[in-house]
Amino acid sequence: MPRAAQLRQWDNQFVWHPFTQMQAYWDEEAPIIESAEGFFLVDTEGRRYLDGISSLWCNVHGHRVPEIDRAIREQLERVAHTTLLGLSSPPSIELARELVHRVPDGLTKVFYSDSGATAVEVALKIAYQYHLQKENRPGRRDLFVSLSGAYHGDTIGSVSVGGIDLFHAAYRSLLFETVQVPAPVAYRVPKGLTAQQYLQHCFDEVERVLAEHHEQIAAFVIEPLVQGAAGMLVHPPGYLRHVRELTRRYGVLLIADEVAVGFGRTGTMFACEQEDVCPDLLCLAKGISAGYLPLAATLTTDEVFEAFLGDPAEGKTFYHGHTYTGNALGCAAALASLRLFDENSVLDNVRANEKRLARRLNEIVDWPHVGEVRQKGIMVGIELVEDKAQKTPYPATLRMGHQVTLAARRRGVIIRPLGDVVVLMPAPAMPLELVDRLCDVVFESIDEVTSGARAR
Ligand SMILES: *Cc1c(COP(=O)(O)O)cnc(C)c1O
Repeated sequence: MPRAAQLRQWDNQFVWHPFTQMQAYWDEEAPIIESAEGFFLVDTEGRRYLDGISSLWCNVHGHRVPEIDRAIREQLERVAHTTLLGLSSPPSIELARELVHRVPDGLTKVFYSDSGATAVEVALKIAYQYHLQKENRPGRRDLFVSLSGAYHGDTIGSVSVGGIDLFHAAYRSLLFETVQVPAPVAYRVPKGLTAQQYLQHCFDEVERVLAEHHEQIAAFVIEPLVQGAAGMLVHPPGYLRHVRELTRRYGVLLIADEVAVGFGRTGTMFACEQEDVCPDLLCLAKGISAGYLPLAATLTTDEVFEAFLGDPAEGKTFYHGHTYTGNALGCAAALASLRLFDENSVLDNVRANEKRLARRLNEIVDWPHVGEVRQKGIMVGIELVEDKAQKTPYPATLRMGHQVTLAARRRGVIIRPLGDVVVLMPAPAMPLELVDRLCDVVFESIDEVTSGARAR
């Protein structure tokens, strides 16, 4: 049997893929990616694909970047991994210092872990324990506020603050209690309200919930500016700032989950910068290691950190850690990535791509099955609908988003939708002409699939 076919057989026999209905996957002959070059992926049959979603939102400078590859190799020649439990390592120290310099002022301490979900778990546990141990009116607060449609990862704590029924409903009885506020987005609003009235309601709900429950609330958890997995929902200006002001007023911690939006994707290094917000806890993962290795960090303030200080016998220690916490290879990759942000002016590239995307997306806003086009920085969601005027979704059985993915794949582009929201997530360092190619192919694919569905 040829090697590619053998691998396919073994893939179907042995591998259980994440977020994947395996029964459908078996028939699909998904590419098996063997190598990559810059912004292209190469499969076992030698086909090349443009990586249109940054390998699930984490790649930053492209693949096989000489500077990052070299940094990892140099670290490998010293040591691949040693524990941060009671020991330290140069890359983890240097990276912590670099991160503190780059995040909003006030965040001074870095707690490492290895994925977005763990970065959020860490933040939730720190917030809970902080209130028990803080100097001023300590107490038990076991309620968290989250947004409708929120996504913070797939471990039980991060699922508890999640709001996507398709992913989360099955686990409800396992989860801790939260209060949900409505996400401030107004594509579809309750009958009888204008978009403006509904957004005002969303702003008001933040205050109502905090006023009513603040003595039980440990923290307010938010994806700043853009709710990614919900379908690239872009919040109106001022919402994040509003949440920061109210959480501060009511003595509730603010956890900013920048796992998706961090490292340039919204046009600034971190999304919080755009509203001049400093959260109490900042969660970073995905782009932190340029999409090379599993690495995450939860940053916090002196005030929170100091609540955990005391004699070892006092029990104030934060008893949390993962075996690969602060992995040296991951930290070396992250350091090299931050250097490239400076050397290659990656944020300037993001802003150029942001403008180009806005112009290109304008071409499709009037298309009959494009319900809404959402963009912040270089994060894009194109919602496909059956009826544009009524905003009626397609029947789920048509899997329209998935059909567009397959059509794009036939044209040499890898994307992955969120339901019927087609996602474009070019890497921050992707050159302009490849962003154009991504648009060309995705627009053609949308046209092919939606006009086919019309004919049916
Ligand atoms: C992807 C994502 C996570 C989870 O990150 P993992 O590394 O997959 O655990 C958490 N929060 C947000 C906002 C994300 O987009």
